[in-house]
Order: sequence, then C-alpha cells, then structure tokens
Amino acid sequence: MKIDEALIRDVVTQVLQEVTAAAKSTGSHSAGSNAVSSGRWTNAAAVAPRGHVGRRGQFTCVDQAVEAAQTAFDQLSTKGLEQRREIVDIIRKICSSQAEELGGLEFQETKIGRLEHKIEKLVALDHPRVPGVEFLRPQTYSGDHGLAVIERAPFGVIGAITPVTHSLPTLACNAISMISAGNALIANPHPSGKKIAAEGVRRFNEAIFQKTGIDNLICVITEPTLESANAIFAHRGVALVVVTGGPAVARAALKAGKRAVVAGPGNPPVVVDETADLAKAARSIVLGASYDNNLLCIAEKEVFVVEQVFDRLMDEMERAGAVRLRGKQVDQMTAAAFVEVGDDKHLAPAKELLGQDAVKMANAIGLKIDPRTPLLFGETDEHNPFVSVEQMMTFVPFVRCGSVEQAIDLAKHYEHGYRHTSLIHSNNVRNITRMGKLMDTTLFVKNGPCMAGLGMGGEGYASFSIAGPTGEGITTPLTFTRERRCSMIDDLWILGQPRSDA
Ligand code: NAD
Repeated sequence: MKIDEALIRDVVTQVLQEVTAAAKSTGSHSAGSNAVSSGRWTNAAAVAPRGHVGRRGQFTCVDQAVEAAQTAFDQLSTKGLEQRREIVDIIRKICSSQAEELGGLEFQETKIGRLEHKIEKLVALDHPRVPGVEFLRPQTYSGDHGLAVIERAPFGVIGAITPVTHSLPTLACNAISMISAGNALIANPHPSGKKIAAEGVRRFNEAIFQKTGIDNLICVITEPTLESANAIFAHRGVALVVVTGGPAVARAALKAGKRAVVAGPGNPPVVVDETADLAKAARSIVLGASYDNNLLCIAEKEVFVVEQVFDRLMDEMERAGAVRLRGKQVDQMTAAAFVEVGDDKHLAPAKELLGQDAVKMANAIGLKIDPRTPLLFGETDEHNPFVSVEQMMTFVPFVRCGSVEQAIDLAKHYEHGYRHTSLIHSNNVRNITRMGKLMDTTLFVKNGPCMAGLGMGGEGYASFSIAGPTGEGITTPLTFTRERRCSMIDDLWILGQPRSDA
C-alpha cells in the first residue's frame, strides 16, 4: 500500500495547530470537559457511544454537544466584550459574503421559498439592524448609599430549535444574539433543513476557532429528531430553550420544565379600510405576501377589506403584478392546496404547494401565467381554509366585509389568539387604534409590508425569532441574558459628601 506522506504531514500539522490553539485559549483543562464523565449531566435519553469527539460543532449526541458547548462557554467567559463582537462579526461576514452559496444550498435542500430571498435573508444578518454586543446596556443607580450597577449576564448553554422556513438564517441570527450575550448554543434544526444548518455551523466554528481557539461555540445536532429536541429540553446542562416553529414545538417547549423563549406560529391578518391608499396597500401586500413565497411567519396571510373599496383594491392588486383567480379557479386552488391530517382530519397545507412559486400554484389548477408573477389572489368567504389555516402559499384570500368593525373582528378571530402579527392599511387613526388594541399582537404594522415591521423598510431592529407566547417580542441579545446586580454600599458615589470616617 502506498502511503501519502504529504497528506499525513498535513493532518498532523493541522491537529498540532488545533491542540496548541485550544491550549492557549483554555489555559488548562476546562470545567466543562469532565461534565459527562463526572455524571453531572448524564441524560439517559441522549447517551450515545463514547469516543466520538465532535469538532466544529457537529454532533449526533446531545450529551456530547452540551458538554462541548459548555467547554466553549467556559472559554468564552474568559474573553471580553470585544472578542464577542469579533466572533459575532465572523458569523455576520460568513452569512453575507457566502450568501449566494449558502442560500443556494438551503434552497436546494428545503425546496421551498425563493432563491433570491434565501440569499437576502443571509445578507441581512450583516447589518446593524440585527443587534449585537452594543445592545447590552448596563444600568446604574447612584446616591446617598453608594452605587448599584445592573449588568446583563449570560445563561450558559442555550438550546435552540429552528424551523425549515429559514433554517440557517434563524440559526445564525440566534447565534448572533446569544453569543453577543455571552452564551454558547446547541441547535436542533428541522430535519428538512439539517444539512445547511450543519454546513453553516461548520463554517462559523471553523472561522471562530481559527480566530480565537474556541471550538464548538455553536453546536448542531446533525441528525435531528423529536427525541433529540426533547433531550435538549430535558438536559440539565441547558439553561434556557429557545424554539422557533409551529404550534406543536411551541407547546412542547412550554412543557420543558425550564425557562423557554417561544417564537411560535402566526396567521397575520390584514385589514384595509375605505381611507387607505389602495395602490400602496396593494403594493405592500404583494411585496410582503410573496416574499420567499409567503414563508415568513409575519407575512400577510389573509385580507379583510371594507366593501366600499373592495373592487378597487382588487384592481390595484392586479396593477401591482398579482394575478387574480375567480370563482371556480379559487375552488380548484382550495381543493389542491389543503389535505386532511390527523385523527380529527383537520386541514393542513399540501406539502407540494407550500412555499412554491405562484406559477407552480397556477399550474396545479391548469392555469398558465407569466413565470415572473409574484402572487395569486382572489375573493373567498371567511370560511375558506386559506383564511383560517397558516398556509404559507403564494395565494392570498380577500374577504369582503360590511364595515371596518367587521373586518377588525374577523382579523381578531382568524389570528387565533397567537398575538403574533397583524397589519392595517388606513388613514383613520381611530380605526388603526381600535385594531391595534383589539389584536394585541407583538407586531402591528400600519401602511407598509410586513417586513417593514422588522426594520426592513421601517424603523427598529430585526430578528428571525419573534417570541409572542412568552412575551420577549422581537428577540435581541438582551433576551438571552440574566440580570445581575453589583452593589457598593456607602462608597463610590463621587458626587456625594465626603464620609465622616474617610
Ligand atoms: P415546525 O413546527 O414544523 O418545526 C419547527 C421546529 O420544531 C423543527 O426543528 C421541528 O423539528 C421541531 N418540532 C416540531 N414539532 C416538535 C415537537 N413536538 N417537539 C420538539 N420539536 C418539534 O415549523 P416549520 O414548518 O419548520 O416552520 C414554520 C412554523 O414556524 C410556522 O408555524 C411559523 O409561523 C413558525 N415560525 C415562527 C417564527 C417566529 O419568530 N415566531 C419564525 C419562523 C417560523
């Protein structure tokens, strides 16, 4: 057998470099590295054969991933804010500079959404509107009795469950927020987006390791299952769980027995009243509802329109580039788009049409349209499943309403109490106020497309995890911190009177 000496030399050199870098960064054996063998975290459901040491965040075993993430957390805890900032910048830069390749891989694997938007979502992470270390603002109180400083401390290892709709963007955005706050994380991606999640994590860790000597700051379960998600929920080494997904995972996380940040489902309704700028409303609805083929949880899913302007709005929708389906076509589309699932035979979106281009939706009912068409729409009644089911498709139903009050009441009803996102197009401040109060949603967008509510075309910051059920809202680094107070009694208030005993 011929031995490839050059290859062996390369491998040995690389291993030596890594050992040296790791030793430099830890100084000594870290506290977390003995966690499993000491029995501190033994978790029967997740124990896998020993001997597999994960690198660059790739793990099949939850116990080993948590152990590695804990080691990385311990190492990160010895570094300052500036180094956290550098690490976060690495993630941002990889997302933006490799967006075409990574977005392409995500599109290839998940087969939902639109390639250009997969790319855009990654590029968006390299922007100050996705907050980083600068968001951690200490508070101080000073006075007669001295000084108190309130600082934001990390939790430790955070478990993140991520959706298929934005597999890598959610994971990367979670990583930016969580690491800015000083944490390490372990992610359980959706099985249909697991390869891109693992590849992104590998690239992030590789670059972070080269720069800082810390490996496995972001760990990923490469063969994710419901069992591995549950093992993360139950693991004693995971201090906090953060889930981004639909109703089932939201319920599971709330039962996890530890603190959970839950970014759950939505079914965002839009109300259009008689005072709205109809052309702008139509352009906004087309832009928001067609973005990544309606995969965004904040995207316009159903529209309630006051009778008086209904027909004019429908005309404006066509002017904005959407294609209108009528009568029978709407019935055919409804029949094609939903399937009965579960024992109770409830309706769910048909997988083959979820997140697909409008042209594919149209083809499903034998309709030929311009392939560049962003969106289909049509009139339905409120009982059509396109209204009630969170459908994530490029057909949007428009429901005719007798009054703005009725439109708002229907919006409230079909949002299902998720308190996620709602939108209105109106220039009547009373209508806007009434809807805002009644809906009680985390995001309430007026006179723009949904993404403007996340700072893309509107003000404010962005995140891919919007935590409605547990109340954290649009997550930021602060979401992933614990408050700690440091009090100095009677001293350090330099404005005060000199102490008599000084
Ligand atoms: P999904 O609920 O099918 O899956 C989300 C994640 O949860 C996946 O990793 C999945 O494997 C896991 N999961 C599902 N059921 C589970 C259970 N019982 N126990 C443990 N883990 C479980 O959702 P999806 O199709 O990937 O994503 C779309 C959904 O996510 C929509 O409902 C959308 O509104 C929601 N979403 C919400 C936000 C937000 O910020 N609030 C962001 C993106 C997506």
